[in-house]
Amino acid sequence: MAISTVRVPGEQELIEDARLDDAWALLGEFSSLVRESGSDAERRAVERITSRLASWGVPHTVYEPELLISLPRYASLVVGDRTYAAKTPSMAVSTPPEGTTAPIVYLPAGYASSVHDIFSGAVLEGDVTGRFVITEGLPMPGKVSDLEARGALGIVCISPGERVHEGICTSIWGSPDLASLGRQPTIPVVSISNADGRGLIARIGDEAVATMITRLETGWRRIPVTVAEIRGSVEPERFVLLHGHLDSWHVGIGDNATGDATLLEVARLLQDHRHKLARSVRICWWSGHSHGRYAGSTWFADAHANDIARNCVCHINCDSPGCRDATVFSDVYSMAEAEGFARQAIFDVTGLQADFRHPARAGDISFNNLGVSTFFMLSSTMPDQLRLQKGYHAVGGCGGNIEWHTEADTMEIADRDNLLRDTRLYAAATFRAANLHVHPLDFRATLTQIDGALRGYAAVVGRLADLSGTYELIASTRRTLEQLYDAADGLGSVEAARPVNDALLAIGRPLVSVLYSRAGKYRQDPALDISPLPDFAAAVAATDSVPDGVVRTELLRARNRLEGALLDVGDAAARVATHPSRG
Ligand SMILES: [Zn+2]
Repeated sequence: MAISTVRVPGEQELIEDARLDDAWALLGEFSSLVRESGSDAERRAVERITSRLASWGVPHTVYEPELLISLPRYASLVVGDRTYAAKTPSMAVSTPPEGTTAPIVYLPAGYASSVHDIFSGAVLEGDVTGRFVITEGLPMPGKVSDLEARGALGIVCISPGERVHEGICTSIWGSPDLASLGRQPTIPVVSISNADGRGLIARIGDEAVATMITRLETGWRRIPVTVAEIRGSVEPERFVLLHGHLDSWHVGIGDNATGDATLLEVARLLQDHRHKLARSVRICWWSGHSHGRYAGSTWFADAHANDIARNCVCHINCDSPGCRDATVFSDVYSMAEAEGFARQAIFDVTGLQADFRHPARAGDISFNNLGVSTFFMLSSTMPDQLRLQKGYHAVGGCGGNIEWHTEADTMEIADRDNLLRDTRLYAAATFRAANLHVHPLDFRATLTQIDGALRGYAAVVGRLADLSGTYELIASTRRTLEQLYDAADGLGSVEAARPVNDALLAIGRPLVSVLYSRAGKYRQDPALDISPLPDFAAAVAATDSVPDGVVRTELLRARNRLEGALLDVGDAAARVATHPSRG
C-alpha cells in the first residue's frame, strides 16, 4: 500500500511554529471591512494580506479579472398595509423602482434539516403561473430555477430563523458563457424573517396581492484574485492548491475571515519551511465567491486550465475554519480517494476521529470538470447534539453558528483555540500532500464509489441498458490499480515516484470528471444538486418524463463515457504497474 500516513520529515516543526499573531490581527482588521466583491473595502483587505506576504518574502500576484458580480442593495415586500423588511439574494433581478405586483400563493416546502439539504433543490407542488410564491427555506438556485420555469413571477423565501441570511440564487457556476447565459435568473426574489413569514402566511388568503421591490447592482466588475506561490525544490511544476474566499457578506468573520487568516498563516509557515517543500504550494484568496457564484475560483480554473489539469496534485478548500463551538470533524467533505489521507491528517494533528461525505456541488470546488481531487470544504463544525440543544437551524458555514451570512457574523464567531488547531491541520495536510513521495490518492476507493453509485441506479437502468460489461471493467480496472499501488509501495524518493504520480494524476482526471460532472473538461456544471455519476442520474431522473428510447440513448452514452474513463485509467495504471520507476 503506497498511501503513506506517517508524518513527513519537517512536519512536526512546521506545526509547532504555527501562531495566531498575524491571523488574529487580520480578523480584527477584517471586522471593520465589508468585503463586497470588487469593493474598496475588499481592496484594503487584499492589502492587509499582500503587505504581510511581501514582508515575509512570499512571492504573490494579484490578478484582476473582470467578472459578473451582483451586489444586493435594497429589498422590501408590501402586502396590504404592511411593509416587511427583506433581503434579496445576489443575481436575482431588480424590479422597477415602484416594484412588481402580483397575486401571492403559499407553497409549503419545510426547512433543510442539515447543511447538505441546504445545497439541494426543492420541488414544490402547485400552480404558480403568474404569481409570486411564498415558501420556506433559503433562495437556492434549484428552487428559484424550478419555480421560474413553471411561470412564477417572483419568490418570497421565509428564513428558517429571525435573522435573514444573505445568499445567491443563480445556478450559473462562475461568470456565464454561451452555454450557461440562459440560466441567469429573470425574476425578483426576497427573503423575510421567520416570524414575518409565519405571520404573513396566516393572513394571506386566496385573493392576496403583494408588491416586491428589489434593487441590485449587477454587472461586470474587476475583482481581486490573490495568488501566493511557495515553490518546491524537487518538482516545482507540480503543486497543491490551497484556497478560500476573501469576499464576504457583511464583515463575515466566521465566513470566511477565519479561512483567510488560516491561509495567511499557512503561507508564512510554508515560506519559513520552504527548503523542506518538495512540490510547490499555491495559496489563493478568491473574490466573487458570494456575489458571483464562485467567480474567482472559476476564473482561475479557466485561466490556468491545462496547467491545473497536468500539474495540480489536489486542491484543499478552506471555508469557515476556527469557529465558535466547532469542536468536531463530522460530515467533512472529501472525495473518496482522499478520505484516508484527510482522516489521518485530522487525527494526527487534532486527535479527533472524523467522518466524511462526498462533496456537494457547492463552495469553491470549481475544479471537478478538470478532474482534480479535493477535501476539506466544510471541515470543523459544532456537534449536532449542541446544535439541537441551541435550537439552531442548519446553515452552510460558520461552523454551524446561525450568525452565518448575516450582520451578526462578527468577532464572537471566531475561536482562538479552534483557529490555531485548524491552522495546524491545514498547514500539515498541505505540507504532507506536497511532500509525500506518492500522491495520497487512493483511487480504489473511487472505483468502489462508482460501482456503488451504478448499482444504486440498477433498478431503473437494468431495464434499459446492459451494464454487465461495465461492472466487469470496473473489477478488472481495480486489479490493475492494485498492481500499481503494490508497485508504488516503498518508492524512496519524489523522483523515483514520478512515473507512479504521473499515472495517478492521469487516473484521477477521468474518474473525478465522470463521477462529479457532465459538462466537459473546460466547462462548469450548474450549481445544482448533483448525484454521483450525473450522466446516469440524469437518465434515471428522466424515465418518467421522456420515451424509453431517449433514456436508452442517454444511457448508452453515459456507459461509453464511464467505460472510456475506466479504459484510460487501466492504460495509465498498466504502463507503470510493472515498471514503477525510471530512476
Ligand atoms: Zn464561505
